[in-house]
Amino acid sequence: MKRVGAHVSIAGGVENAPLNATAIGAKAFALFTRNQRQWHSPPLQKTSVDAFRRHCEAGGFDARHILPHDSYLINLGNPDPDKLERSRNAFIEEMERAETLGLLLLNFHPGSHLNAVGEEECLGLIADSVNLALKATDRVTAVIENTAGQGTNLGSRFEHLRSIIDRIEDRSRIGVCLDTCHLFAAGYDLQTAEAAAKTFEDFDRTVGMQYLKGMHLNDALRPLGSRLDRHACIGKGMIGLEGFRYIMQSPLFEEIPLILETPDSEGWQEEIKLLYSLEES
Ligand SMILES: [Zn+2]
Ligand SMILES: [Zn+2]
Repeated sequence: MKRVGAHVSIAGGVENAPLNATAIGAKAFALFTRNQRQWHSPPLQKTSVDAFRRHCEAGGFDARHILPHDSYLINLGNPDPDKLERSRNAFIEEMERAETLGLLLLNFHPGSHLNAVGEEECLGLIADSVNLALKATDRVTAVIENTAGQGTNLGSRFEHLRSIIDRIEDRSRIGVCLDTCHLFAAGYDLQTAEAAAKTFEDFDRTVGMQYLKGMHLNDALRPLGSRLDRHACIGKGMIGLEGFRYIMQSPLFEEIPLILETPDSEGWQEEIKLLYSLEES
């Protein structure tokens, strides 16, 4: 089945995320496991971890359907050695937090070269960072998110994702999360079923569909190839419903988290219903 959900709030504690997901009829969810705008967070409390696991079980959420997202402060390709080390340590901490919660995935943005090094060198730094984190932890798969290509962010081209994966030592623990808004902003069309099919064929050829561990379902406020990361509600942006209908009807996206990060959290319940209605029509 399709596992549509949203990036839900952890206000009051991580244990509230599965409750918030259940309340909107989600069959998957994403969350931050800590305050994503601060470097340091207190460790997870056992009562919180136990309640998180209990609420996930009650809501029918399997670890495969839960996609934690790392902090926005982390840049695994930072050319400055001190800052790189800080990011690497924070990333390992995020992987450990995910493991403590019994989770299996951690979604991250690849990184930015900040105009201080070339693309290839930065992709190498990112891959080294992931290799270090995989060695320091046991189970969690690092899930690279494609980007819109805004500023000096890498990861907007499928070739960037391929180049990182090629340098990963344990490829059983590397995956990809494709964000539809970021795809579209990076110039990969999704406006029709044909265009979407072509985009995912291209992904399969360059990266490999077996690496796809999740999707972010967002419509795009700006036109194809804008390189601007501006999310719109499903069907209200430049992608439109046909691309999402393709995803909801294609067998390629079964049993992976399909996560809304659209701007109106009040409307998520309706958006989830809308997406499920596309399965049939
Ligand atoms: Zn995203
Ligand atoms: Zn985005």
